[in-house]
Amino acid sequence: NKQPVRVAVTGAAGQIGYSLLFRIASGDMLGKDQPVILQLLEITPALKALGGVVMELRDCAFPLLADIVTSDDPMVAFKDADYALLVGAMPRKAGMERGDLLGANGGIFKPQGEALNAVASRDVKVLVVGNPANTNALIAQQNAPDLDPRQFTAMVRLDHNRAVSQLAEKTGQPVSEIRNVTIWGNHSSTQYPDLSQATVGGQNALSLVDQEWYAGTYIPTVAKRGAAIIEARGLSSAASAASAAIDHMRDWALGTPEGQWVSMGIPSDGSYGIPEGLIYGFPVRTSGGKYEIVQGLDVSDFSRGKMDATAQELTEERDEVRKLGLV
Ligand code: NDP
Repeated sequence: NKQPVRVAVTGAAGQIGYSLLFRIASGDMLGKDQPVILQLLEITPALKALGGVVMELRDCAFPLLADIVTSDDPMVAFKDADYALLVGAMPRKAGMERGDLLGANGGIFKPQGEALNAVASRDVKVLVVGNPANTNALIAQQNAPDLDPRQFTAMVRLDHNRAVSQLAEKTGQPVSEIRNVTIWGNHSSTQYPDLSQATVGGQNALSLVDQEWYAGTYIPTVAKRGAAIIEARGLSSAASAASAAIDHMRDWALGTPEGQWVSMGIPSDGSYGIPEGLIYGFPVRTSGGKYEIVQGLDVSDFSRGKMDATAQELTEERDEVRKLGLV
């Protein structure tokens, strides 16, 4: 029987949390034999609603759910955490400039980075979901100097899953036949969903679709999917975002299948000419709880332009948070 591991989740009373917590507690993230202790962080006014979510979690009688801790103090919620999913963030409001948004989120992710540095497990795996996710991850990372920078990651997995699903639909094949799609860069509209290495049932994906559809329809559909869901549902995507967070953590902890890769936002080591230190979506393989960038892929001129554009946006975001003194 395995000992329970500690999983911290912030913004736990929000929409994504409402889907995410139940999946973690049922064993979808870390395996059906791994007990978990949920350590839930919320802002003070949301603690009452969080209490209701906790009642529902208990009412599920999940055999793997060993305990639940709630708090509005990151020093409590992150204590000895083995995994931390940072979901709570300040949403962009109408008329907000990028600097305002980054500044508001700095007020959340700087103290959270400091708290992780002070009290989390020395091996904590951190996933930032709250937007702007890549730069929020950078802020938390830069405020946790005693942890390995590689422990801080950002979610591009929802974009990755959208890219897989759109390609499956177009080619009439099941998603299980799709391999090696990559999301490069920022979780924003500049992201680059790259099919140049992707295969469908073993065939090169780009030989099955025309370039015009790829550049003119596919890439913008994947990049703007979030807006399409808001338009249809009247609310932003939540269950699919939670599902992608589960996928990201599961693959990081338990490994990617032989011969396949996934996309994760991770600190650039300079691979593929991406400026070192940016939290950037890369193709990665994982094993034994470690990830590695897939090396040696051909980069066309088309890809180069898109990879550089999204790197440029992340560089500007980094400059902005440097100016604000957050990193
Ligand atoms: P959601 O749970 O819907 O979203 C939370 C964050 O995830 C947002 O920043 C959102 O970005 C982001 N996100 C990333 N990818 C996606 C995606 N594909 N679809 C939708 N969202 C995505 O927000 P709620 O407002 O329902 O809940 C947030 C909760 O966080 C609240 O309960 C609030 O009290 C809490 N909070 C907690 C903090 C803390 O613990 N210290 C700090 C701040 C807030 P986007 O806004 O761009 O959609």
